[in-house]
Amino acid sequence: MEKTVANHKVTVVDHPLVQHKLTLMRDTETALPEFRRLLREISLLLAYEVTRHLELKTVSVETPVARAELPLLAQQEPCFITILRAGNGLLDGMLDLIPAASVGHVGLYRDPKSLEAVEYYYKVPRDMAERLAIVVDPMLATGHTAVAALEMLKRDNAKDISFVCLVAAPEGIDALHQAHPDVPVFTAAVDDHLNEKGYIVPGLGDAGDRIFGTK
Ligand code: URA
Repeated sequence: MEKTVANHKVTVVDHPLVQHKLTLMRDTETALPEFRRLLREISLLLAYEVTRHLELKTVSVETPVARAELPLLAQQEPCFITILRAGNGLLDGMLDLIPAASVGHVGLYRDPKSLEAVEYYYKVPRDMAERLAIVVDPMLATGHTAVAALEMLKRDNAKDISFVCLVAAPEGIDALHQAHPDVPVFTAAVDDHLNEKGYIVPGLGDAGDRIFGTK
């Protein structure tokens, strides 16, 4: 479903299974193994949605019964760009869906005082101009890290970029679209607001800690 948030268009993946799984993930009582399993499943469903518009070409295939003209992806497989570390949690499910996708890593941490993004790692595939880049980070909060990651990818000639998260704050959507109006945002939910610590409310807490069991 397309929704307008702070004057920007966002795709909210409102499939009942996505919504159900996200609610279970938000629950504090959901333990680590269950949280990871749900994340893997929901990521696959989000990847399905973000790749819906990939172009197809027609190829000739000999089936066991007959020769037929059939659809195949026109471009190289998309690449996933994970914003470390929480973005890695979305990779397993997405790679289940597109095992041939390559993966780039962007390391950015949030300065706890300014909440600005600071770079510490960057390694992406060489042919960024040739394919859809799907940038993944579970939480679009202030949007600072997403904005910085997208700038880095554009410097590397990425032309077709989509951003995927689980939960977005209106503030993050606004920041991302102000800086990168050409990048569509896909999310399972748009939450209410950010609190004074930069957490999304109601959100699901610290996504990295919940994925990696570090709290
Ligand atoms: N990062 C998180 O992991 N959770 C939030 O709520 C905001 C940013």
